Amino acid sequence: MMHEMALAQSIRGIVDDQARAQHFSRVKVVRMEIGRFAGVEKSALVFCFDVAMQGGPAEGARLEMIDLPGRAACLGCGEMVEIDDRLDPCPLCGSGQILPRGGDEMRIRNLEVE
Ligand SMILES: [Zn+2]
Repeated sequence: MMHEMALAQSIRGIVDDQARAQHFSRVKVVRMEIGRFAGVEKSALVFCFDVAMQGGPAEGARLEMIDLPGRAACLGCGEMVEIDDRLDPCPLCGSGQILPRGGDEMRIRNLEVE
């Protein structure tokens, strides 16, 4: 829960900055990209989001979360593959020598504002 609250507070900071810079007063939707390995518990993040947005332009906004897959570069076959777990072998050739590339993203893709 600490992780999710810290994330929600950083979202609040970004939303407030954007509202000032772009002169919008209300945010309807906050759309986030969350990688498979980011360790974000979505139900906890939704709860923390609602709390952290109170009193700001995104109070009552909907939080949409887009899942990004875990990716890895395989040293065995040289392909970029998707993996469910950092310790998984390559799904194409079975090699255990893979380098995770992404999947720990936690970022705002965009805001729907009025
Ligand atoms: Zn491979």
